[in-house]
Amino acid sequence: MSRERLYGTRAIVLRHRDQGEADRVLTVMTPGLGKRTLLAKGVRRPASRKAGHLEPFTHVQLLIARGRSWDLITQAETVYAFRGLREDLERAAYAFYFVELVDAFVQEEDEHPEVFDLLLQGLHVLEQTDRPALLARWFELTLLRLSGYQPVLFHCVECGEALQPVTNYLAVTRGGMLCPRHGEGRSDAEALDVGALKVLRYLQTQPVEAVLRLDLSPVRLRQIERLLAGYIRFVVERRLRTPDFIHRLTPA
Ligand SMILES: [Zn+2]
Repeated sequence: MSRERLYGTRAIVLRHRDQGEADRVLTVMTPGLGKRTLLAKGVRRPASRKAGHLEPFTHVQLLIARGRSWDLITQAETVYAFRGLREDLERAAYAFYFVELVDAFVQEEDEHPEVFDLLLQGLHVLEQTDRPALLARWFELTLLRLSGYQPVLFHCVECGEALQPVTNYLAVTRGGMLCPRHGEGRSDAEALDVGALKVLRYLQTQPVEAVLRLDLSPVRLRQIERLLAGYIRFVVERRLRTPDFIHRLTPA
Protein backbone atom coordinates (compact mmCIF):
# COMPACT_ATOMS: atom_id res chain seq x y z
CA MET A 1 0.00 0.00 0.00
CA SER A 2 1.52 3.32 -1.03
CA ARG A 3 2.01 5.98 1.64
CA GLU A 4 -0.08 8.53 -0.29
CA ARG A 5 -3.15 6.49 0.30
CA LEU A 6 -2.75 6.76 4.05
CA TYR A 7 -3.66 9.62 6.35
CA GLY A 8 -3.86 10.00 10.10
CA THR A 9 -6.33 11.91 12.24
CA ARG A 10 -7.73 12.10 15.70
CA ALA A 11 -11.45 11.38 15.94
CA ILE A 12 -14.37 10.90 18.30
CA VAL A 13 -16.63 7.99 17.44
CA LEU A 14 -20.23 9.16 17.03
CA ARG A 15 -21.86 5.82 16.21
CA HIS A 16 -21.31 2.53 14.48
CA ARG A 17 -23.33 -0.17 12.78
CA ASP A 18 -22.52 -3.71 11.77
CA GLN A 19 -21.72 -4.43 8.17
CA GLY A 20 -21.50 -7.89 6.61
CA GLU A 21 -20.00 -10.77 8.59
CA ALA A 22 -17.36 -9.07 10.66
CA ASP A 23 -17.07 -5.44 9.61
CA ARG A 24 -18.36 -2.26 11.10
CA VAL A 25 -19.22 1.13 9.58
CA LEU A 26 -18.28 4.03 11.81
CA THR A 27 -19.32 7.65 11.83
CA VAL A 28 -16.65 9.81 13.44
CA MET A 29 -16.07 13.49 14.08
CA THR A 30 -12.54 14.74 13.37
CA PRO A 31 -10.86 18.09 14.16
CA GLY A 32 -9.81 18.90 10.58
CA LEU A 33 -11.73 16.60 8.24
CA GLY A 34 -15.25 17.07 9.56
CA LYS A 35 -17.61 14.17 9.98
CA ARG A 36 -16.55 11.00 8.21
CA THR A 37 -17.92 7.56 7.49
CA LEU A 38 -15.25 4.87 7.75
CA LEU A 39 -15.08 1.13 7.41
CA ALA A 40 -13.41 -1.03 10.06
CA LYS A 41 -12.81 -4.43 8.49
CA GLY A 42 -12.88 -7.59 10.58
CA VAL A 43 -13.43 -5.60 13.73
CA ARG A 44 -16.11 -7.92 15.09
CA ARG A 45 -13.82 -10.96 15.05
CA PRO A 46 -12.76 -11.91 18.58
CA ALA A 47 -9.09 -11.51 17.74
CA SER A 48 -9.46 -7.96 16.39
CA ARG A 49 -7.17 -5.50 18.10
CA LYS A 50 -9.07 -2.47 16.80
CA ALA A 51 -12.47 -3.25 18.34
CA GLY A 52 -11.92 -1.85 21.83
CA HIS A 53 -10.78 1.49 20.43
CA LEU A 54 -13.84 2.09 18.27
CA GLU A 55 -16.73 2.29 20.71
CA PRO A 56 -19.02 5.39 20.70
CA PHE A 57 -17.54 8.57 22.24
CA THR A 58 -14.02 7.13 22.40
CA HIS A 59 -11.32 9.66 21.49
CA VAL A 60 -9.03 7.82 19.07
CA GLN A 61 -6.01 8.29 16.85
CA LEU A 62 -6.68 6.65 13.49
CA LEU A 63 -4.60 5.66 10.51
CA ILE A 64 -6.85 5.56 7.47
CA ALA A 65 -6.44 4.27 3.93
CA ARG A 66 -8.39 5.83 1.09
CA GLY A 67 -10.86 3.35 -0.33
CA ARG A 68 -13.19 3.28 -3.29
CA SER A 69 -16.47 3.72 -1.43
CA TRP A 70 -15.48 4.07 2.21
CA ASP A 71 -12.08 4.88 3.60
CA LEU A 72 -10.67 2.07 5.72
CA ILE A 73 -9.41 2.22 9.29
CA THR A 74 -6.05 0.45 9.26
CA GLN A 75 -4.94 1.32 12.80
CA ALA A 76 -6.77 2.61 15.85
CA GLU A 77 -5.29 3.70 19.14
CA THR A 78 -7.22 5.11 22.08
CA VAL A 79 -6.29 8.64 23.12
CA TYR A 80 -8.87 8.66 25.91
CA ALA A 81 -11.54 6.04 26.59
CA PHE A 82 -13.86 8.02 28.92
CA ARG A 83 -14.20 5.08 31.27
CA GLY A 84 -15.88 7.31 33.83
CA LEU A 85 -18.73 7.81 31.38
CA ARG A 86 -19.13 4.13 30.56
CA GLU A 87 -19.29 3.03 34.17
CA ASP A 88 -22.16 5.39 35.03
CA LEU A 89 -25.53 4.88 33.39
CA GLU A 90 -26.69 8.49 33.62
CA ARG A 91 -23.40 9.91 32.35
CA ALA A 92 -23.31 7.33 29.55
CA ALA A 93 -26.80 8.39 28.46
CA TYR A 94 -25.69 12.03 28.27
CA ALA A 95 -22.56 11.06 26.36
CA PHE A 96 -24.70 9.23 23.80
CA TYR A 97 -26.90 12.31 23.60
CA PHE A 98 -23.89 14.60 22.94
CA VAL A 99 -22.60 12.45 20.06
CA GLU A 100 -26.12 12.08 18.67
CA LEU A 101 -26.58 15.86 18.67
CA VAL A 102 -23.26 16.46 16.91
CA ASP A 103 -24.15 13.78 14.38
CA ALA A 104 -27.48 15.52 13.71
CA PHE A 105 -26.01 19.02 13.37
CA VAL A 106 -22.89 18.32 11.32
CA GLN A 107 -23.02 17.33 7.67
CA GLU A 108 -20.67 14.73 6.22
CA GLU A 109 -17.25 16.29 5.49
CA ASP A 110 -18.36 19.63 6.88
CA GLU A 111 -15.21 21.02 8.51
CA HIS A 112 -16.09 22.12 12.00
CA PRO A 113 -13.05 22.13 14.33
CA GLU A 114 -14.95 24.13 16.98
CA VAL A 115 -17.63 21.45 17.13
CA PHE A 116 -14.97 18.76 17.60
CA ASP A 117 -13.47 20.83 20.43
CA LEU A 118 -16.90 21.37 21.99
CA LEU A 119 -17.65 17.64 21.92
CA LEU A 120 -14.28 16.76 23.43
CA GLN A 121 -14.67 19.39 26.15
CA GLY A 122 -18.28 18.38 26.80
CA LEU A 123 -17.33 14.73 27.31
CA HIS A 124 -14.43 15.61 29.63
CA VAL A 125 -16.58 17.91 31.77
CA LEU A 126 -19.36 15.32 31.79
CA GLU A 127 -16.96 12.81 33.30
CA GLN A 128 -16.30 15.17 36.22
CA THR A 129 -19.52 17.02 36.91
CA ASP A 130 -22.40 15.94 39.10
CA ARG A 131 -24.71 18.28 37.17
CA PRO A 132 -24.98 16.62 33.75
CA ALA A 133 -28.41 18.11 32.95
CA LEU A 134 -27.12 21.66 33.35
CA LEU A 135 -24.02 20.80 31.31
CA ALA A 136 -26.27 19.38 28.56
CA ARG A 137 -28.20 22.67 28.32
CA TRP A 138 -24.92 24.58 27.93
CA PHE A 139 -23.79 22.04 25.35
CA GLU A 140 -27.03 22.48 23.38
CA LEU A 141 -26.83 26.27 23.29
CA THR A 142 -23.13 26.23 22.38
CA LEU A 143 -23.73 23.74 19.57
CA LEU A 144 -26.60 25.90 18.29
CA ARG A 145 -24.29 28.93 18.28
CA LEU A 146 -21.42 27.14 16.50
CA SER A 147 -23.85 25.80 13.90
CA GLY A 148 -25.31 29.21 13.11
CA TYR A 149 -28.66 28.60 14.85
CA GLN A 150 -28.08 30.71 17.93
CA PRO A 151 -31.51 31.75 19.27
CA VAL A 152 -31.91 35.53 19.46
CA LEU A 153 -32.41 36.25 23.17
CA PHE A 154 -31.61 39.93 23.65
CA HIS A 155 -33.90 41.70 21.21
CA CYS A 156 -37.18 41.12 19.40
CA VAL A 157 -36.63 39.30 16.08
CA GLU A 158 -39.54 41.29 14.60
CA CYS A 159 -38.82 44.92 15.57
CA GLY A 160 -35.24 44.65 16.79
CA GLU A 161 -35.92 46.46 20.04
CA ALA A 162 -34.14 45.38 23.21
CA LEU A 163 -36.34 43.14 25.34
CA GLN A 164 -37.69 44.59 28.59
CA PRO A 165 -37.73 42.63 31.87
CA VAL A 166 -41.35 41.55 31.41
CA THR A 167 -42.97 38.43 29.97
CA ASN A 168 -41.65 38.02 26.41
CA TYR A 169 -42.29 35.28 23.85
CA LEU A 170 -40.11 32.54 22.38
CA ALA A 171 -40.92 31.66 18.76
CA VAL A 172 -38.83 28.72 17.51
CA THR A 173 -40.05 29.27 13.94
CA ARG A 174 -38.60 32.79 14.07
CA GLY A 175 -35.30 31.76 15.66
CA GLY A 176 -35.71 33.61 18.94
CA MET A 177 -37.61 36.05 21.09
CA LEU A 178 -40.51 38.37 20.36
CA CYS A 179 -41.45 41.41 22.44
CA PRO A 180 -44.99 41.49 23.98
CA ARG A 181 -46.24 43.67 21.12
CA HIS A 182 -45.20 41.10 18.49
CA GLY A 183 -45.43 37.86 20.45
CA GLU A 184 -48.64 38.07 22.42
CA GLY A 185 -51.46 35.99 20.98
CA ARG A 186 -49.29 34.20 18.40
CA SER A 187 -50.00 30.47 18.34
CA ASP A 188 -46.36 29.66 17.50
CA ALA A 189 -44.88 31.70 20.37
CA GLU A 190 -44.58 30.67 23.99
CA ALA A 191 -44.71 33.09 26.91
CA LEU A 192 -41.39 33.19 28.75
CA ASP A 193 -41.02 34.69 32.22
CA VAL A 194 -38.11 36.97 33.09
CA GLY A 195 -36.34 34.26 35.08
CA ALA A 196 -36.36 31.71 32.26
CA LEU A 197 -35.00 34.23 29.75
CA LYS A 198 -32.26 35.18 32.20
CA VAL A 199 -31.17 31.55 32.53
CA LEU A 200 -31.15 31.02 28.75
CA ARG A 201 -29.03 34.14 28.29
CA TYR A 202 -26.62 33.00 30.98
CA LEU A 203 -26.27 29.56 29.36
CA GLN A 204 -25.70 31.19 25.98
CA THR A 205 -23.03 33.65 27.04
CA GLN A 206 -21.12 32.19 29.99
CA PRO A 207 -18.26 29.67 30.07
CA VAL A 208 -19.12 26.18 31.25
CA GLU A 209 -17.39 26.63 34.64
CA ALA A 210 -19.72 29.52 35.48
CA VAL A 211 -22.78 27.69 34.17
CA LEU A 212 -22.12 24.69 36.41
CA ARG A 213 -22.19 26.97 39.46
CA LEU A 214 -25.71 28.19 38.62
CA ASP A 215 -28.27 27.66 41.34
CA LEU A 216 -31.46 26.45 39.64
CA SER A 217 -34.57 24.78 40.99
CA PRO A 218 -35.46 21.40 39.46
CA VAL A 219 -38.64 22.98 38.05
CA ARG A 220 -36.66 25.74 36.33
CA LEU A 221 -34.14 23.23 34.96
CA ARG A 222 -36.93 21.08 33.48
CA GLN A 223 -38.53 24.17 31.93
CA ILE A 224 -35.25 25.12 30.24
CA GLU A 225 -34.75 21.54 29.10
CA ARG A 226 -38.21 21.47 27.50
CA LEU A 227 -37.73 24.86 25.78
CA LEU A 228 -34.39 23.87 24.28
CA ALA A 229 -35.67 20.43 23.25
CA GLY A 230 -38.43 22.12 21.25
CA TYR A 231 -35.97 24.54 19.70
CA ILE A 232 -33.52 21.78 18.73
CA ARG A 233 -36.27 19.56 17.33
CA PHE A 234 -37.33 22.39 15.04
CA VAL A 235 -33.77 23.16 13.90
CA VAL A 236 -32.79 19.53 13.30
CA GLU A 237 -35.95 18.74 11.33
CA ARG A 238 -35.50 21.80 9.15
CA ARG A 239 -31.81 20.94 8.82
CA LEU A 240 -32.58 17.48 7.56
CA ARG A 241 -35.04 18.83 5.01
CA THR A 242 -32.62 21.47 3.73
CA PRO A 243 -29.09 20.16 4.17
CA ASP A 244 -27.43 23.25 2.74
CA PHE A 245 -29.21 25.70 4.98
CA ILE A 246 -26.32 25.91 7.39
CA HIS A 247 -23.91 27.02 4.68
CA ARG A 248 -26.07 29.99 3.90
CA LEU A 249 -26.20 30.92 7.59
CA THR A 250 -22.49 30.52 8.26
CA PRO A 251 -20.43 31.57 5.26
CA ALA A 252 -16.98 30.00 5.43
ZN1 LIG B 1 -41.08 43.49 18.69
